[in-house]
Amino acid sequence: MTGHYDAIVIGAGIIGSAVGLELSRKGWKTLNIDKLPAAGYGSTSASCAIIRTHYSTLNGTAFSYEGYFYWKDWQAHLGTEDERGLALFNSCGCLIMKTDANDHLKSVLEHQRTVGIPFEEWDTETIKVKMPHMNLNTYGPPKRPGDEGFCEPTDGTIKGAVFFPCAGYISDPQLATHNIQQAAEAAGGRFLFNAEIVEIRKNRNGCVTGVTLKGGKEIDAPVVVNVAGPHSHKINEMAGALADMNISTKALKQEVTHLPMPTENWDEIGVVTSDNDIACYTRPEKGNFLLIGSEDPECDPPEFVDPDNFDENFTEQWTIQAMRTAQRIPALGIPSRTKGVAALYDASDDWIPIYDKSLVPGFYMACGSSGNQFKNASPAGAMMAELIEKVEAGHDHDAEPLEFHMKFTNRTIDVGFYSRRRKINSNSSFSVLG
Ligand SMILES: Cc1cc2nc3c(=O)[nH]c(=O)nc-3n(C[C@H](O)[C@H](O)[C@H](O)COP(=O)(O)OP(=O)(O)OC[C@H]3O[C@@H](n4cnc5c(N)ncnc54)[C@H](O)[C@@H]3O)c2cc1C
Repeated sequence: MTGHYDAIVIGAGIIGSAVGLELSRKGWKTLNIDKLPAAGYGSTSASCAIIRTHYSTLNGTAFSYEGYFYWKDWQAHLGTEDERGLALFNSCGCLIMKTDANDHLKSVLEHQRTVGIPFEEWDTETIKVKMPHMNLNTYGPPKRPGDEGFCEPTDGTIKGAVFFPCAGYISDPQLATHNIQQAAEAAGGRFLFNAEIVEIRKNRNGCVTGVTLKGGKEIDAPVVVNVAGPHSHKINEMAGALADMNISTKALKQEVTHLPMPTENWDEIGVVTSDNDIACYTRPEKGNFLLIGSEDPECDPPEFVDPDNFDENFTEQWTIQAMRTAQRIPALGIPSRTKGVAALYDASDDWIPIYDKSLVPGFYMACGSSGNQFKNASPAGAMMAELIEKVEAGHDHDAEPLEFHMKFTNRTIDVGFYSRRRKINSNSSFSVLG
C-alpha cells in the first residue's frame, strides 16, 4: 500500500468510504486509511442510522431528502454485490411530536413543503388510535432527576404530531459501510486498515504531499481528505488547517439506551419517533427492543472529551433517557443491566457539518457530522468528490461557492452553507436534529 495515490481519505467510516467511492468513480486513484481493523468500525458502528428529513434548515432538509433516495434503492446506487449481503432500509416512517418548544413544527413543515416531501398531520385522537401504548401528557421542558417535577406531568396534552413516510432506519450501519467499501473497490479504490496517520506532509509551498503512518511509512498524494469523525479536530490541527476556521469540531460523548419494548412486534410494526417534550428520539431494534437517544436538552450538560481517552461506560444519562421515554411509554420496564452504546459525535458549533476545502492547498474536510449525517453519507460523498475535483482544477470555492446539483431531487445546494468559515447558523436546532 505504499506508493502514490491521487487522493488519500483519512477514515473509512460511512462518509469517508462514500468519499472514496465517488472519487474512484471519477477515475481518481484513492486510498482510504483507517486505524481500525475494518470499514465502519468507528462512530459509524454506534450509529442509530435513522433516516429522516426533518431538519431545521431548508438546505439540511433538501440534502437529507436527496440522501433518502440513495437508501431507497441501495443496490442500484452501489451497483455491486457484497458477499455479506446488503444493509436493509426499514422504511417504517417517523413520527414527530408537535410541541410549543418546536413551534408546532411550523418551519420544519414549511421546508418539507418547499422541497416536496410528503407528510401527514395527526391530531391527538389519531395519535391515540395509532399509538395506543403512548401516554400523551406533556412533561416538558425536560428535567433531570433532582429537579423539581422530574417525571411528573405538566397539565397539558400533546396537541398533534407529524408522520413522515419517507423515513426509517438502516438495519446495520457497519454493513452499509462495508457495502460502500466493496463498491469503491470495484471502481478501483483501495482501503488500508490498522494504519494510523500521524503526520500530514507538505512541500515547501505548503501544499499537501501525503501522509506518514505510525511506524514511519510514507504514502504520497497531492490531496488528503479529513473524514476522521470524532478525531477531525486532531487531524485539522495536524494539517495546520485550523487558522481560518470559524466553526470548530469537538468529540462529544453520547449514550444510546437499549431496552425491551413492551409493545409486541414493535420491531416489525414500530416507527421512529422524535419527541422534544421528553427530549428523546427512539427507533425499533431487532428482537423487539427500543433504541433511545437524547435530543440534547439544555438541562443536560454536554460532555466534550478527548476521543483517545474517554470513559466508555454508561452513566446516569442512560437511565435518564430510559425514564424520560417511560413518561411517554408507561409500560416500559427499565432493567438493572444497562445495554446500548456509549460513543462519540463529532459535534460542530452549530450542529451542521463542514464539507469544505481548507487553507492548506490539497487538504479537505468532511467533518462535524454532529450525530446527524449517517443518512447523508452518499450525497456528501458525491458533493465532496465534485468539490475536490473543481478546486483541484483551479476553482476558488471560498470566493465563489460551488453549486452542487442533487441528481435524485433535481435541486441545487449552495455548498457554502457547509463552509468552515460560515457564521454559526442561528436557524439550527443546536441539537442532534441538525
Ligand atoms: C450514538 C450515535 C448515534 C447516531 N445516530 C445517527 C442517526 O440516527 N442518523 C444519522 O444520520 N446519523 C447518526 N449518527 C451520526 C453518524 O453515525 C455519523 O455522522 C457518521 O457515522 C460519521 O461517519 P464518518 O465516516 O464521518 O466518521 P467515523 O465513522 O467516525 O469514521 C472516522 C474514521 O476515522 C478513523 N481515524 C481517525 N483518526 C485517524 C487517524 N489518525 N488515522 C487513521 N484513521 C483515523 C477512525 O478510526 C474512524 O474509523 C450517530 C452517531 C452516533 C455516535
